[in-house]
Amino acid sequence: MIKLEKYMEVFPKSLWVTTCNSGSCNGCDIEIVATISPRYDIERLGMKLVGTPRHADVLIVTGPVTKFMTKKLLRIYNQMPDPKAVVCVGNCGASGDVFYKSYNLDGPVDRIIPVDVYVHGCPPRPEAIIEGVAKAVLKLETLRGESRKVGEVQ
Ligand code: SF4
Repeated sequence: MIKLEKYMEVFPKSLWVTTCNSGSCNGCDIEIVATISPRYDIERLGMKLVGTPRHADVLIVTGPVTKFMTKKLLRIYNQMPDPKAVVCVGNCGASGDVFYKSYNLDGPVDRIIPVDVYVHGCPPRPEAIIEGVAKAVLKLETLRGESRKVGEVQ
């Protein structure tokens, strides 16, 4: 488990996050909502959920990517400014899980867009989602050429 001081180390500035449900059962999405609720309160870590991909640093994707959502997911990804990172939340998005090789899937997620961090679970707990976004920050920091000691967080 990463301690709060480590989170503060990898969140030197506000991180804006947006989400895309690519066909999930909503289980993962409910856990994401829990991360912004008072119990977990990700805003205390400088992390904010935003409604538009044009303002976001990190894209959280849930679900296995149904054919209906493929173009929409790509469009959302392409609307985000660089540098950007993608966090795949849940087993569905990582592998298809119980929907593996379903007739109605184009996914998993990394067949459509590049994924930087996988958060496994069905659904994963809010702590795991927060840790996954913290890991995504490492990629953003690398892209920004800021070689601070955040690499210690794995
Ligand atoms: S990983 Fe589990 S909880 Fe998350 S969208 Fe898939 S089936 Fe639902």
